[in-house]
Amino acid sequence: MALATATIDFCALRANLARVKSLAPDSQVMAVLKANAYGHGLVPIAQQLADADAFAVARIEEALALRTGGITKPIVLLEGFFKASDIEIMLANNFQTVVHDEYQLEALEQAQLAGAIKVWLKVDTGMHRLGINPESINTFYRRLKDCPYVQDEVNLMTHFACADDNQDAYNEAQLQLFQTLVADKPEPLCLANSAAIINYPQSHGDWVRPGLMMYGVSPVKNTFSAQLQLTPVMTLSSEVIAVRPVRQGEPVGYGGHWRADKDTYLAVVAIGYGDGYPRHAQNGTPVLINAQRYPLVGRVSMDMITVDIGPDPSAVAVGDEAIMWGRELAIEEIAACADTIAYELLCNITPRVSYQYIASS
Ligand SMILES: *Cc1c(COP(=O)(O)O)cnc(C)c1O
Repeated sequence: MALATATIDFCALRANLARVKSLAPDSQVMAVLKANAYGHGLVPIAQQLADADAFAVARIEEALALRTGGITKPIVLLEGFFKASDIEIMLANNFQTVVHDEYQLEALEQAQLAGAIKVWLKVDTGMHRLGINPESINTFYRRLKDCPYVQDEVNLMTHFACADDNQDAYNEAQLQLFQTLVADKPEPLCLANSAAIINYPQSHGDWVRPGLMMYGVSPVKNTFSAQLQLTPVMTLSSEVIAVRPVRQGEPVGYGGHWRADKDTYLAVVAIGYGDGYPRHAQNGTPVLINAQRYPLVGRVSMDMITVDIGPDPSAVAVGDEAIMWGRELAIEEIAACADTIAYELLCNITPRVSYQYIASS
């Protein structure tokens, strides 16, 4: 019986996908499954998303793992392919590719294929990470249309840099630039990640690309999932393995970083950064035991954390479940306590954690 456990609730997942669809009723959904489905388990999550229209990943290996797992839906490679030899693999496996650079276009033009690949042309409207320059869109578009190995329909996409902040004028600027660039091109459009799905209905287009919100986590700044009618899919928990007294003035954990300011009891919980619990979680980060929030104290170790349960040792017993985040304890709050974002916490779950898949109602 493993200690650190990620319990994954399929009902919550499906409800969140339904929420995406109610927010963007006229768009098709490309469900983003990169990084092991944000730490939730690639194939088990894909199997539950029958209502998605396509899947998206960041690496061809992730796409191949979906096929090996029996997933037959179209899969989009969000960063495209990196080697010309990947093109045959894409064709054989019904992968679609983003084209964001000249080298990809040239490789497609020089390919010798028995079929054609579906392409998503990515335009950089201000993120300045991937994407062709706005000035080159017409050239790229024309060359893709002329390429015999590219399917006739050339989807057009872009990505927002600041969609998590609905007060940021940059979003409107990106949206307007994109609309200007694509106005003369009768093709499917795809712009919105989770934050834009929520904050910018005018960006929905023909396809949306939800990641984080499907997992029930808020993509919007200073907002929790419940406010957005999303349900956390993952609960990360472990067990109390010791309850022990500590006296006023005694230091706890590596570096003696925290000292008890009065006599108290500690619960030691079997989870640490070796499981993906963030080492930078500060003193006071809440841990839920028996429906009660207790503060983390002292440094997070590889395999354990220490929690201050106060003067009554009967409040917590060895073997009690401790919850790090989940439905009753927002991962957004834990991320803030660790000076990071929920995305990183989810992706950092390590192979030592056991996965338990459930369907609550
Ligand atoms: C990861 C990713 C998404 C999903 O982003 P969320 O914020 O998790 O919704 C969408 N589009 C692209 C290009 C991505 O890389």
